[in-house]
Amino acid sequence: MRDIILGIDVGGTNIKLGLVNPGGQIFSRSRIVTKDHTAPKELIKALIGEITNLLKINQLEKKQVKGIGIGLPGLIDVEKGIVKLLPNIAGWRDVPLEKILRQSLDMEIRLENDVNMITLGEWRFGAGQGRKDLVCMTLGTGVGAGLILNDALYRGEGFAAGEIGHMPLNETGVVCSCGGVGCFERYVGNAALEKEASRIFNRSIKLEEVSQLAAKGEKRALAFWHEAGVRIGNGLTATVNLLNPRLIIIGGGVSNSHRFLFPAIRETIKARAMSVQGSMVRVVRAKLGSDAGIIGACVLLENESRHDG
Ligand SMILES: [Zn+2]
Repeated sequence: MRDIILGIDVGGTNIKLGLVNPGGQIFSRSRIVTKDHTAPKELIKALIGEITNLLKINQLEKKQVKGIGIGLPGLIDVEKGIVKLLPNIAGWRDVPLEKILRQSLDMEIRLENDVNMITLGEWRFGAGQGRKDLVCMTLGTGVGAGLILNDALYRGEGFAAGEIGHMPLNETGVVCSCGGVGCFERYVGNAALEKEASRIFNRSIKLEEVSQLAAKGEKRALAFWHEAGVRIGNGLTATVNLLNPRLIIIGGGVSNSHRFLFPAIRETIKARAMSVQGSMVRVVRAKLGSDAGIIGACVLLENESRHDG
């Protein structure tokens, strides 16, 4: 029996671990607080400790687990198993994490970008089941996307494809952390949306509260989410025209406001995309929530041999 997978989702706040069965269900979980151990050496030590602990609690031997899939928030060379850069976790540059963990644990290890992990999870077990092509966008502090093209994850030659948040929309817009100007994320990322909401309500306000107000029918809140949906739809229109996907999955915190947001996204794409692309595409909410990044490990470990094409 080697059909259990250990999925790990490394975030700037928490590192979530989960044991996943072949059906994509998480049956045991644990968690590490990221800021307690940020430097590679400490974080790796904490990871090894927590992995060992989770297996022990579940009375599993290493050989009963097919492998460990780890999603990380940054640029990952998945062929060499190297973490090239984690922009939001200090000290992570060119860390050969796969080799270090394999030597310490003597288990199969695979690394992947976190948004790609979410995409794999949604594709196989969530909103994208059975699709050959899809775009999975995560809306939050960061705005990213994973691409499934022709039945496979598309990573790009430098493993950096899918940076939908850094599509330039405005050549004279706000300067972005990526070095660009007027990036999509500067208009639809959480920081931008909260700033806009605070301007509208004339006080500091969280997006959850704007959603609660919208649920009560508050006019400014409804108008705010409509406008956000139009902005998101505008950015997605470029992707729809470029890739002609049948499905766009939207996840992340903001997608919890889907009731108010999604109608405007759909209307905007329909109105602005080219006719063939616009008429084919469906926009749906992600299904797996914050578990997608752990469940995606199952897909990553599907073929045990490396460089399987
Ligand atoms: Zn940018």
